[in-house]
Amino acid sequence: MTNLDYLVIAPHPDDAELGVGGTILLLRAQGARVGVLDLTDGEPTPHGSPEIRRAETDAATRILGLDWRGNLGLPNRALQADLESRRQLAGLLRQLRPRWLFAPYWEDSHPDHVAASALVDAARFWAKLTKTDMPGSPHFPERIVYYFSVHLRIHPQPSFVTDITAHIDTKMNAIACYQSQFITGRPTTPPTLLDDLRDRARYWGWAIGAGYGEPFVCREPIGLRGLRDLR
Ligand SMILES: [Zn+2]
Repeated sequence: MTNLDYLVIAPHPDDAELGVGGTILLLRAQGARVGVLDLTDGEPTPHGSPEIRRAETDAATRILGLDWRGNLGLPNRALQADLESRRQLAGLLRQLRPRWLFAPYWEDSHPDHVAASALVDAARFWAKLTKTDMPGSPHFPERIVYYFSVHLRIHPQPSFVTDITAHIDTKMNAIACYQSQFITGRPTTPPTLLDDLRDRARYWGWAIGAGYGEPFVCREPIGLRGLRDLR
């Protein structure tokens, strides 16, 4: 177990790549320690299997250069923000001790994503409890940032957008590792699903005067130590 700067928590393997892939690469390039925790194995899906999905996840993990990746083994399609899941996740947070958490945006048509968002909120609070039999020692991640890997065609106002221009090709390579999810059985005439994902990153890049971007939402105001790195 290792002290992480940032931990991305994802309902399924591929959600971290979709919502935070470019920002993970950006943070890694700046020397931060970044991990991803997948809550479920994401299976069954029409073209996947647990073995295929694990191999795809391993390939994407190598491309992202993650410091840590794990899977909590909670049930896909039946993810619940219940007390036992909260205990498991909070126990892991007390051991990994991330400064910041990335959680799925709370509004989604996929019940696993809605549950994952609520579960991260609750586990973050539980992770700081004393007088408990959870492993590790009390720890409260300073921030939760919500990312977009959503199944609704919604357009929320982001709190900030990261400039991932230097990392868009690598992000797309990481996403393409999940062939069973994004390529097999999908239409091949442009715009393909991968084209669509890249176009959306281009849109958010345009919104901040950059090439490509990733949007995020915070419930709390964001404090800045300076203005130098703002676009
Ligand atoms: Zn998902």
